Amino acid sequence: MKILNLTEGSFPINLSYKLESIDVPKIGSLIGNLEVKLRILRISNNLLKCDGSIKGDFTDICQNCLKETILNIFSEIDVTLKDLNEIHSDSSEQDQTHYQDLEYFNLQKFIEEETGLNYPDIVKCEESCIEENESLIQEKNFPFKKIRDLID
Ligand SMILES: [Zn+2]
Repeated sequence: MKILNLTEGSFPINLSYKLESIDVPKIGSLIGNLEVKLRILRISNNLLKCDGSIKGDFTDICQNCLKETILNIFSEIDVTLKDLNEIHSDSSEQDQTHYQDLEYFNLQKFIEEETGLNYPDIVKCEESCIEENESLIQEKNFPFKKIRDLID
């Protein structure tokens, strides 16, 4: 586990490395390595910027046809880093802010959060894979409606 102290030292910090595994709920499984490239800049005492990219391939299941699918994930990172103690006093309402203890900054946790945020909500084997079940569901519901109509 990589812990950085972002409250001191020299900036920018340039990082380029490969992760063999990540622990993010509800995403596919990583094939090979996740390539991480990051640059951390210090804007002021309690304000840092992080940009770079995360790249990796994942196997997942198509939500429609359940076929195994490979996703190539490439996420650009452009995030503001702030200390946890500012989470309540912060009124800027930027959604691209990651809060963490800047003295013991857990890089793995940051990467996992960013990967989870950038992972697609809907996984499809291909763009044109559409839901076949929809018409079936409608047909199934129809008889009930008819019966209710009769009762009324
Ligand atoms: Zn599909």
